[in-house]
Amino acid sequence: MEEGKSVPELYGSLVFSDAVMRERLPKDIYKAVHKTIENGTHLELDVANTVAAVMKEWAVEHGATHFTHWFQPMTGLTAEKHDSFISPDGAGGVIMEFSGKELVKGEPDASSFPSGGLRATFEARGYTAWDPSSPAFIKDKSLYIPTAFCSYGGEALDKKTPLLRSMAALSTEAVKVLQLLGYKDVRHVLTTVGSEQEYFLIDKDLYKKRKDLLFTGRTLIGAPASKGQEMEDHYFGVLKPKVSAFMHDLDEELWKLGVPAKTKHNEVAPSQHELAPVFETANVAVDHNQLTMEVMKKVADKHNFACLLHEKPFEGINGSGKHNNWSIVTNTGVNLLDPGKHPGQDTKFLVFLVAVISAVDRYQDLLRCAVADAGNDHRLGANEAPPAIISIFVGEELDRVLKALESGSSFEEGGRVQMGMAPMLPHITKDTTDRNRTSPFAFTGNKFEFRMPGSSVSVANANIVLNTAVADVLSDIYEELKDVPKDQIDAKARKLARKMLTEHKRILFNGNGYTDEWVEEAARRGLYNLKSVPEAMPRLISDSSIALFTKHKVFSKEELMSRYEINLENYSKTIHIESLTMQEMVRKDFTSGMVAYMKALSGEAAEKKALLPEAACRMELGTLKALDEASGEMAEALERLDKDTRHAEKDADVLGCAKYYHDTILEEMEELRAIVDKAESLIPDQYLPYPTYGTMLFSLT
Ligand code: ADP
Ligand code: MG
Repeated sequence: MEEGKSVPELYGSLVFSDAVMRERLPKDIYKAVHKTIENGTHLELDVANTVAAVMKEWAVEHGATHFTHWFQPMTGLTAEKHDSFISPDGAGGVIMEFSGKELVKGEPDASSFPSGGLRATFEARGYTAWDPSSPAFIKDKSLYIPTAFCSYGGEALDKKTPLLRSMAALSTEAVKVLQLLGYKDVRHVLTTVGSEQEYFLIDKDLYKKRKDLLFTGRTLIGAPASKGQEMEDHYFGVLKPKVSAFMHDLDEELWKLGVPAKTKHNEVAPSQHELAPVFETANVAVDHNQLTMEVMKKVADKHNFACLLHEKPFEGINGSGKHNNWSIVTNTGVNLLDPGKHPGQDTKFLVFLVAVISAVDRYQDLLRCAVADAGNDHRLGANEAPPAIISIFVGEELDRVLKALESGSSFEEGGRVQMGMAPMLPHITKDTTDRNRTSPFAFTGNKFEFRMPGSSVSVANANIVLNTAVADVLSDIYEELKDVPKDQIDAKARKLARKMLTEHKRILFNGNGYTDEWVEEAARRGLYNLKSVPEAMPRLISDSSIALFTKHKVFSKEELMSRYEINLENYSKTIHIESLTMQEMVRKDFTSGMVAYMKALSGEAAEKKALLPEAACRMELGTLKALDEASGEMAEALERLDKDTRHAEKDADVLGCAKYYHDTILEEMEELRAIVDKAESLIPDQYLPYPTYGTMLFSLT
């Protein structure tokens, strides 16, 4: 442990936390900041000035020389621009200064961030605004201030602004319903999120030898190793010492930044791992997940690893996701998705449960859009990942609760079952639901787990849609119930829940989501199966989407249009880069290896023949022939891909362009890959200038 510090001493040591504020801020100022955090009220400049002065003092004590507004533009990454605290003192020296204005507002020249047409270049100005509900922290000698980012005209240019808006919308609607149901002391609700992060670690020196990993994050060619994940020997397996050392360091770095890293383990695929944090308020959790990804890469580098966050770095083995655990908690500390001891009798629980079910059914298409990007397309629908179809798993007990609700009968509680494992072992109570690993949206005890988000992207989008969709259903529930007399509210609320459940129960599916039968069954039920980004994205600008997001003031129509464009553009750009990288790798790296091996084979055969004229040289000549044939097919496939990729650049319409990349370029890349991979499997490793799957995935000792 660093400098002999204990974990509690280390935890949050670089965070301007609530505890630090309470200790250092004058009482009235601390209260004012809290009021802003809780109620979203405006922060007066004199309050901001005091906070800034105290923050600076604290930051300087902790070694900071600079500050930066930290934001999340629509690139999906984070952005920062650092200013130092120094200010000339007029006598040739400097003093360290930081004003309230600098704390609350920044003006980055934002013309180079994607805006999807929202910001004309003559309005290059963008604003960042302090988000006091996500704590500031110190990293690399800079004070990081989490901020939201918008254009000169006030349109959101980032992921945080709509997330905060969606949390507010959900809070407003949930409070209205809870008040009706008699929970008069509920003033606001918060969404809570815990996002489990999957990743791969491979040797850095190997990583550097692969252009595809360097430029695109995933391997574009590569024959499978003789061993994959079929032995199921990696999941929860013993951590290798080098990996363990990395994870240890990672935990410490995250803890210092106040990121509550909790669980770490090996995942299903070789070299794949997972980190899960303790859940937090949604916007803080999203910030912390961004930080987690960044710190993972940095710590990996120190340990001579490359951390791969791509959704599908290797073909044929599992990809990586980010399970978004989500719930709603009231300011009085009640988790609204906690079934408690008697879920069948808890009207509030039933109403919120049915609200989530209805929301997911009503806005399946938007949830799919929220996780749509080029990387995730390789994962959704592949056999290890949730399919592109959205459905909900509620588990056995809730299934019975819902059936009872639907039929109007009373729910017979099964009681918790004790498990008899062995007499000497402690008694363990069985969970009320078994795990279902194939469902994209599963109820897991007292929260829902949305498993479709990809490993590399911000979970903001998923939570924006989830919050807004549930807010929308709650607002309908309120409209239906608002005039019901108090003594009838319980019965009427249940009746409404029953009606909604009947309408939306097609989204419930407790079986195996990876089978072909489910795909057919889902089609019969009329569920969406949006398999790719270009298939999904038009739903984001559909009438129902615009109506939803504008009603709850989460996105304006223009903001939706901009996100639609940016996402499709990113999709096309990603595949464009992949195509160019693949062509280069095949043409140069792979071909050089193949030619060298063919030369060696023909040399060997010729030498053998000279010594032994009757030698058949079947191995040498057979392989030579196979490679020669492959090289012919490869040349043709390469030429086609090259020509069609050039053609793609001329397509103007974003959707048409994305479709072209999907239907033509990706297809041709797959054809080329099949030829190359088959040939690669004939070539010994030492001829190839890049490491093979086997070396990358299994060489770590
Ligand atoms: P598993 O998915 O393996 O069942 P856990 O039950 O530990 O694992 O939960 C996984 C994630 O869910 C963790 O990040 C945890 O903090 C988070 N989580 C637990 N309760 C909630 C909640 N009420 N709201 C949001 N996330 C939660
Ligand atoms: Mg999980």
